[in-house]
Amino acid sequence: MKKNRIKDLSRAELEAALKEALGEHYRVSQIFRWLYKASVRSFGEMTDIPAPLRLALDSKTYISMPELLDLKRSLSDGTTKYLFKLEDGSTIETVLLPERSRNTVCLSSQVGCKFACDFCASAPFGFVRNLSQAEILDEVVFIKNANPGANITNLVFMGIGEPLDNYDNVMRAVRIFNDKDAFKIGARKITISTCGVVPGIEKLAKEGLQVELSVSLHSADDSVRSRILPVNKRYALKNLMAACKNYIRATNRIITFEYVLIDGVNSSGPDALALAKLLKAMKCKVNVISYNRISGSPYREPKEFAVRAFMKVLKDAGLNATHRKPKGEEIDAGCGQLRISRFEKEGAE
Ligand code: SAH
Repeated sequence: MKKNRIKDLSRAELEAALKEALGEHYRVSQIFRWLYKASVRSFGEMTDIPAPLRLALDSKTYISMPELLDLKRSLSDGTTKYLFKLEDGSTIETVLLPERSRNTVCLSSQVGCKFACDFCASAPFGFVRNLSQAEILDEVVFIKNANPGANITNLVFMGIGEPLDNYDNVMRAVRIFNDKDAFKIGARKITISTCGVVPGIEKLAKEGLQVELSVSLHSADDSVRSRILPVNKRYALKNLMAACKNYIRATNRIITFEYVLIDGVNSSGPDALALAKLLKAMKCKVNVISYNRISGSPYREPKEFAVRAFMKVLKDAGLNATHRKPKGEEIDAGCGQLRISRFEKEGAE
């Protein structure tokens, strides 16, 4: 009989499985603590769980753990990029971003990505499959285990893939990240970033979770946005903005709009004015980030003075906007850079 990954089960599903095995209704909290707080790799390590229960679990399930293929740590800011191999040989990348009082893990949600954003390093390699609940959880289990001193405080779904295109597994994982017997990371400390998958935003508005929503906007003009984010051909700005406004109304939460500045594409004065006009009167934050160069791409970040001028227009218009520099650049762990260096290496072999 094929065993299932125990970390693919929700609390209720594990409870039901135990009840079926033993006719009893307890110990899920203990098992969760072993799996997610202690990161055990075998049922034998669950010393306070009775042997018959451990045997029952072992006969039906197993404890997954990704294989670490490579690790790169930035000497300047401590950003660490992990390359994992999954059971089917697929590879994903996960990044740990340590800061003084917090440690953020940047998670992948899919193997590859369908959305083909023109400026993103994940785009050329296409889509393979969704990550399962266990595979998403294991990104954090592994990193937590490898960094016992680092308390993981924040999660961002900004690695490879589109989280709202793997909606169910991402939400299932979020509930376990929240669980007091698992990671106990508050929903407000978990950011879901989308390129603008409108049905996903609509669904999330009804989910009843307090997660942070980030929308990768990158242009306030449909023709430019469609060129750099092909998803815009399907869900144009009018549609996207309506979904965002509805989300803000329904959840009483704000949205963060991500805006990657690309020289000659979306970073002029008129581009800034158009952005200010689009977001005027919306409860939102704007996170402006300079384009992070990817080898082989013709795109460039704008000069400092152009960034300053862009930010001034946003601020003068009353937007809550900040500019930040990507982290972990020298190890290719910055936004959108995941996967590419590995493929270049493989290609060269
Ligand atoms: N699919 C999701 C999450 C993955 S990308 C999304 O699109 O939001 C995470 C963020 O990195 C997005 O805002 C994306 O647009 C941005 N990004 C991608 N490539 C980048 C690059 N080369 N430089 C800066 N940001 C980039």
